[in-house]
Amino acid sequence: MAEIRIENVRKEFAGFVAVQGSTLTIDDGTFFVMLGPSGCGKTTTLRMIAGLELPTSGRILLGGEDVTMRRAAARDIAFVFQMYALYPHMDVRGNIAFPLRCQSVPRAEIRRRVEETARLLRIDGLLDRPVSGLSGGDRQRVALGRAIVRQPKAFLMDEPLGALDSEFRHLMCGELRDLHDRLGATTVYVTHDQLEAMSMADRIAVMNHGVIEQHGPPQEIYDRPATMYVADFLGSPPMNFLSFHGAVRRGDRRVVIDEAAIPVPELHEERAEGPLALGVRPEHVRFDDAAALRGAVLGAEYMGTTQIVTVTTAAGALKARIPASRRVRTGETVGLSFRAASLALFDAASGRALR
Ligand code: ATP
Repeated sequence: MAEIRIENVRKEFAGFVAVQGSTLTIDDGTFFVMLGPSGCGKTTTLRMIAGLELPTSGRILLGGEDVTMRRAAARDIAFVFQMYALYPHMDVRGNIAFPLRCQSVPRAEIRRRVEETARLLRIDGLLDRPVSGLSGGDRQRVALGRAIVRQPKAFLMDEPLGALDSEFRHLMCGELRDLHDRLGATTVYVTHDQLEAMSMADRIAVMNHGVIEQHGPPQEIYDRPATMYVADFLGSPPMNFLSFHGAVRRGDRRVVIDEAAIPVPELHEERAEGPLALGVRPEHVRFDDAAALRGAVLGAEYMGTTQIVTVTTAAGALKARIPASRRVRTGETVGLSFRAASLALFDAASGRALR
């Protein structure tokens, strides 16, 4: 079993809190992505799971066993770094075999496991080639091979594709996910790239200033963000917010923002009052001549089959993703409508979702 659990894990560096008491269970076999901007504590969390950093407080459990005080080498976890340092004087075979040689594994078994790993990564034709002449992608595969050959319980990956160009990254994302499905080992993957996270993850944890704001399947996080921060971090362009001050009761169908009656989603609670924000994703904003909310087109960004149109309304600027076939003119007045089911409502003071 390679379930990973972190319990109230906190990390301070000389008084600076990098991770603020996180609790999380990563089920065995999951492809789990930790997502957030630079400095939010992703790498520190990963390094604590690996045993490269000791938590200031809290526990780390692997397969139900407390490993908080166990050194990295004894955790049976492979860590794949962004800067994969291969041994330039060795060929591909030597690089992949290296961790097994360090463990004094018998020669015949090393040979078998290296060849099996190379087949899995489709680099079996390169085994006797020097690593110096390999392409970026093949070097990445050799680095992965070195991690896989040990047959660890879990893989930890810290922005492993960070150094690759975007087209190649996309290809490697697919390969990594495919590899994960074939190996079945728990993978914890750190990135700041939402597209990478959305395309690969079974589950995502979104971090902000050392706090896990939300974790769950990608679609749930995208469709039902728990906070304005998560709503804003995911999506390109991100969710629009219409800020207003007022009261909404459960059962209310509409709220008036700057004289326009706008649908509201059903509340969890009886009543919400104060600074509030309605959230709507650009793809859920519709151009509708009969709509009460009106605004002027500020500009349009052509995206191929769709376009992103910015509209200024009395309640703030909104971005709408609409078909590219709809002609829009700068300065044109348009009506905007949304379905209540596609909206989110937040307490603007705390940023927490109210539905
Ligand atoms: P990045 O993608 O930039 O690595 P991250 O989300 O992985 O960002 P961490 O590397 O975990 O963030 O860092 C979280 C915070 O802790 C940062 O403000 C960082 O400066 C600080 N930090 C990390 N390691 C140390 C250290 N050894 N000493 C002091 N501060 C540290």
